[in-house]
Amino acid sequence: MFPGPLGISLAGRGLRVGLWSIEAVQIRDFATDKHRSVDDTPAGGGAGMVMRADVIASALDSVAPGRPILAMTPRGKPLAQDRVRQLAEGPGAIILCGRFEGIDERLFEAREIEQVSIGDYILSGGEMAALTLLDACIRLIPGVMGAPSSGMDESFETGLLEYPQYTRPVEWEGRTIPEVLRSGDHAKIEAWRRQRAEIDTRSRRPDLWERHEGARIQSPSGARRRKQDDTK
Ligand code: SAH
Repeated sequence: MFPGPLGISLAGRGLRVGLWSIEAVQIRDFATDKHRSVDDTPAGGGAGMVMRADVIASALDSVAPGRPILAMTPRGKPLAQDRVRQLAEGPGAIILCGRFEGIDERLFEAREIEQVSIGDYILSGGEMAALTLLDACIRLIPGVMGAPSSGMDESFETGLLEYPQYTRPVEWEGRTIPEVLRSGDHAKIEAWRRQRAEIDTRSRRPDLWERHEGARIQSPSGARRRKQDDTK
């Protein structure tokens, strides 16, 4: 499953020219019985299978340390852009992908592991979650995407959703591109975009809006800094 879709397009080019790299570890190689089992039935009963702490610990201990260990799990902290940015700027990561019902909880007590969720829904395995996390990080690595500034404008970077986008044709099915975007007046365009970002965030993501407003009220200097970033 790796690099999978990360082997094509801009991420794939980045991989080929060495801007990032990946090494997949087969957990089954660390099984100790003749069936090479990595899982067993859940203690206390119930459906499915649980991944064994001892086998996974051996797999984790086999890779070079010095990087955060992340485990993809719906029980983790929801992934957000600030953590993505930290990871992209960091030394890399060791990412543990679960399967079946999950992983023996004692692993998380015995090793320093950050549990990460990519959203409130259940996947069949952690690989897609890891690919999602990797994609979000890789696009921030210098040189992977085109213009270095293009990543800074996106949704969440400013604490708001991004403004809506339009492109040619100017008229399509009787609908035109908002007049202001065709005016060439950069200050006006900036103000319109800022306003739409605020309106859309407030109506679509009241949770984000509340956090954004909270931060602005608490720290006037933070709000000023955000405003300057927005105009880049
Ligand atoms: N029984 C678990 C779900 C297991 S899903 C529960 O109810 O919490 C199987 C594997 O898929 C998990 O171990 C995890 O690695 C991965 N996975 C599923 N949903 C995920 C999500 N939202 N975020 C990150 N990983 C997820």
